Amino acid sequence: MEEEGVIPKLLTWYEINHRLLPWRETKNPYEIWVSEMILQQTRVDQGLPYYKRFLDKFPQITDLAVAEETEVLAVWQGLGYYARARNMHKAAKTICNERSGIFPDTFEEIKRLPGIGPYTAAAIASFAFKEKVPCVDGNVKRVVARWKGWSDDIGTARFFNLSFDFLETVIPGASPDVFNQAMMELGSLVCTPHSPNCRVCPLMETCEAARLGKQSELPVKIKKTKVSKVQIHYLLLRNPDGEVAFTQRPSNGVWGGLYELPSVEFPESKNTTARVNLFFENLGIENKVLIANESHLLSHKKIEAFLWKVSDISVLEDLGLKIQWAKKEQIKSFPKHKLMLKFVPYWDVKSS
Ligand code: SF4
Repeated sequence: MEEEGVIPKLLTWYEINHRLLPWRETKNPYEIWVSEMILQQTRVDQGLPYYKRFLDKFPQITDLAVAEETEVLAVWQGLGYYARARNMHKAAKTICNERSGIFPDTFEEIKRLPGIGPYTAAAIASFAFKEKVPCVDGNVKRVVARWKGWSDDIGTARFFNLSFDFLETVIPGASPDVFNQAMMELGSLVCTPHSPNCRVCPLMETCEAARLGKQSELPVKIKKTKVSKVQIHYLLLRNPDGEVAFTQRPSNGVWGGLYELPSVEFPESKNTTARVNLFFENLGIENKVLIANESHLLSHKKIEAFLWKVSDISVLEDLGLKIQWAKKEQIKSFPKHKLMLKFVPYWDVKSS
């Protein structure tokens, strides 16, 4: 296969050009796992402080396994996609309970852990244990689509499988770890989404997109996610001791396990304003003050959020939520999602 001929160039390019990052200096599967989970959907510069903070707090897998879920979520606060943190916590418990804290050392075994997909399993198996298994993440799929000139939708399982099978034929047995790192780094630094720098690319002489001048047409990605619009109305309620009513979200779903003010959500439609007014009317809330209004975007949801100060705490009974009254210091320690953090500066929580 002609692509094999450029692999030594790719490895040399990586040795010269790669960024020095702490998770590239370790062979510890736990530390590699932490970095890979943090870096999913997160830029390197954004993920770096989280990586350091996470390992400071939970230096060993046993520290993570015995932690409370709220401690794990608190370290993850602001990173989004909180299911990642909850799954890591679960997987750490599994490894400690069923394997005496020894991390599994093969791709197939690692893949069976909660929240670990084929990409992360391949990253851990190849970086920590040098298993010859390709890592196929978004960057790698883009490089492969252009390298091979493939115009299938890169968001499909078929494209993932095609890429995986192709890379298996070119990944070198002696250095699968360097190969995988090199492919991902090439996607980050050279074969970027816009204006790939083909002149310096070690794959160029075998690249179909470069040969045909199709770099800007590849990869093909068909957008499927429909973004829905919703309104969320948060209620700021204080008891006579100055404590604020908080609630913990259910552990499954968006922002699972995180804390927030009691709220109600309405899908955005032409009747939304009437429905919101009716909701407040039914609760018997007459005196409410709008303190803040924030917009927030999730991958599948556009949120318009409102923070209302409400003086009558008896309305909580009608909301059917499990309420926890919290003082200032306690609120600080609650793991909160980004939208809630945007509202924090708007209220002055009295300590008592
Ligand atoms: S030659 Fe250009 S398009 Fe092809 S892999 Fe390299 S950077 Fe990407």
